[in-house]
Amino acid sequence: MTAKKQIYLDYAAGAPLDPEVKAQMERISEGLVSGEFANPSALYAAGQRSRELIDAARTEVALLINAQPSEIIFTSGGTESNNTVIQAFARQVIWTTPIEHPSILEPLRKFARQKSRFVPVDAEGRVSPKNFYRDPNPKYCPSLVSVMLANNEIGTIEPVREVSMKCRSPKYKTLIHTDVTQAIGKIPVDVNELKVDLLSFSAHKIGGPAGIGVLYVRKNAHVRPLLSGGNQERGRRAGTENVMLIAGLAKAAKLARARLVDWGKVAEFRDELRSGILKEIPHVILNSPKEGCLPNILNVSFEAIEGEALQLMLDEVGIAVSTGSACASSKLEPSHVIMATRNNAEIAHGSVRFSLGLDTTAEDIQYVMEVLPGIVKKLRDMSTVKVGKYA
Ligand code: PMP
Repeated sequence: MTAKKQIYLDYAAGAPLDPEVKAQMERISEGLVSGEFANPSALYAAGQRSRELIDAARTEVALLINAQPSEIIFTSGGTESNNTVIQAFARQVIWTTPIEHPSILEPLRKFARQKSRFVPVDAEGRVSPKNFYRDPNPKYCPSLVSVMLANNEIGTIEPVREVSMKCRSPKYKTLIHTDVTQAIGKIPVDVNELKVDLLSFSAHKIGGPAGIGVLYVRKNAHVRPLLSGGNQERGRRAGTENVMLIAGLAKAAKLARARLVDWGKVAEFRDELRSGILKEIPHVILNSPKEGCLPNILNVSFEAIEGEALQLMLDEVGIAVSTGSACASSKLEPSHVIMATRNNAEIAHGSVRFSLGLDTTAEDIQYVMEVLPGIVKKLRDMSTVKVGKYA
């Protein structure tokens, strides 16, 4: 019996730990780098070696986004970074989009709802900078504007720089935040180019470990800490640093910088997948834009099919994809992103995200195209819903 094929097309939910990152973390956990696993706040030599590792990691991570090392705060991930930003502006005016990650939207709902403004997105999920108009009443001027650089479900790249140029106001001290958790390592991310003051991301999307991430805070900008009770990260994030994870993140950041050029090939595979689907399968709605999209994401809806049913059938033949996003997929509510772009629950329920990685091969795509049309046909044959309503 031949082994079942295993094709992972859910890199946007989590990329495998890079072997070089793993090796670096193993060396640290075995005490081969810092001598022993000492607390970096300790003044004795072993503690100082841990401190040096953290300092070097900060420099490496800063390079990835063109920041100063002192502007990098290590957090437990994108969720914590995003929560930190939103809670810090809790009672102030916040402008954002309806397609942000739940780690922006949920704290916003909790702390700041009445005063927040959701700037709408078009059918491709893109905001228009002109919709970020300033209200003549200074009471409604935003203290914070938060727009993700690329969406996790459909891959749309947002005009963050243009939004920033529109919203920046020294008079009202508006700060601009962007969540680059999906964009980092796939497209260039430069805090000066983007003109942002705050930025969040996680290590595990770029081959680093889960449980570690970054909050960038531009010099002279202040964000009230979410975690207090320790002087770590210069009082900006309390809690003993995890040297091993921080060093793993730094290694992943270094690799991500070197591999930025490799994503062109991934985009070609993704385009082949899109053309194959559109050619072989009728009644398909494209949720991801063809232009201005991350190189690795393709989100489509198959009419008359539930995304979850397709996900399970694909899993049976060894293909891992996601419906909406991993974070949203345990609930049965339709994806908030597709609802914002299409305002249609049927299309939202039928959406499936294929997300490719640097290890994806032409054979992987071929295999998907061998099995997908048959599975879609089988599910449609079982469905009572008629096709042809939308595509
Ligand atoms: N923002 C975006 C855009 C994401 O895709 C994710 C992860 N799905 C997060 C934030 C949260 O990252 P983490 O779960 O690593 O904290």
